[in-house]
Amino acid sequence: MYPDRVVSGMRPTGALHLGHYHGALKNWIKMQSELPCLFFVADWHALTTHYDDPSAIEGNTWDMVIDWLAAGVDPSQATLFIQSKVPEHAELHLLLSMATPLGWLERVPTYKDQQEKLADRDLATYGFLGYPLLQAADVLIYRASLVPVGEDQIPHIEMMREIARRFNHLYGKEKGFEEKAKEAVKKLGSKRAKIYNELRTEYQEQGKEDALEQAKAMLDEAQNLSMIDRERLFGYLEGSRKLILVEPQARLTEASRLPGLDGQKMSKSYGNAIALREDKDSVVKKVRTMPTDPARVRRTDPGEPEKCPVWQLHQVYSDNDTKDWVLKGCRSAGIGCLECKQPVIDAVLKEQEPMRERAQKYIDDPSLVRAIVADGCDKARKLAQDTMRDVREAMGLSYS
Ligand code: SF4
Repeated sequence: MYPDRVVSGMRPTGALHLGHYHGALKNWIKMQSELPCLFFVADWHALTTHYDDPSAIEGNTWDMVIDWLAAGVDPSQATLFIQSKVPEHAELHLLLSMATPLGWLERVPTYKDQQEKLADRDLATYGFLGYPLLQAADVLIYRASLVPVGEDQIPHIEMMREIARRFNHLYGKEKGFEEKAKEAVKKLGSKRAKIYNELRTEYQEQGKEDALEQAKAMLDEAQNLSMIDRERLFGYLEGSRKLILVEPQARLTEASRLPGLDGQKMSKSYGNAIALREDKDSVVKKVRTMPTDPARVRRTDPGEPEKCPVWQLHQVYSDNDTKDWVLKGCRSAGIGCLECKQPVIDAVLKEQEPMRERAQKYIDDPSLVRAIVADGCDKARKLAQDTMRDVREAMGLSYS
């Protein structure tokens, strides 16, 4: 099997906010220490909806990478790069488009949703229809095993899996595959080869899934196989084709628990966001002017935290003692709203402090960010080129 790998991207939409931090970046930071991770700026995706005004993309890209680094994404652990700097994404997108049925793209739920939500934009374009396929290319080109997604993105991962399966089915036929696979079996050594053949028969004739898993585990452990022989043997277990592209799995991430200042989803366009590196005075002002339970007209009026967006921030930022203090103090009018907001202000500022510090060195010396991204692009490109070599060969385009 190909090594485990995580791929995730973000569209460069400008300064990130704390909703992005709690919803995605914290998860990236956790995963980067567990598995090889590739995180990319999806600048081509930004063009699918903003093709008529690309002026902000470049600036937003650098700002966003600084935000990632500020949040704790570590370039010594994860590979950070820009999608358009790895043109193999576009090549794979094009090649996959040859065999992707139009209906698969039209039925992606977000296609219609987005067209309705962004009714002010002309999205009747080829690029917009094809963006889930470009997403598929973004992932499949790295043979990624895992993609962190929210619940609403699961249909996209399902489609990526179907695309990989279809590709392997159409192009995984290798001349002399059966013979080459049999030769590879021999390389396992006689004892393992016998077990492999028995497990393969059990799976193919009786459909035993555990036999398949056992055989895969055995191949994972086999040290003396080349990558290509290993892939042949994986393919031979299930049929008579090589696995060229890997079917990724969705790693479900918790939906962001951090609401905006008005209790709705935090979003820059709703004007209810706190930027990741927002200026201290502005954070204080924003939280102090947040709406509260409308029942608390006067200081002496009791309130109900469940009806107050500040309470939702306490859920994320406060310990149990503070939450008890809020519940009791609010319901008895024992505390005022400004008093209640102070622990939230303190916690947000404390969370942002190391981010501001980390960001400063990149703001002072932008060449550091450029160097990190250039290095990431090189690494990503090498991996992408490996896959494209196999893809071209499988599609009869290697011209060697
Ligand atoms: S005391 Fe706190 S929870 Fe209660 S209404 Fe005021 S801000 Fe909201």
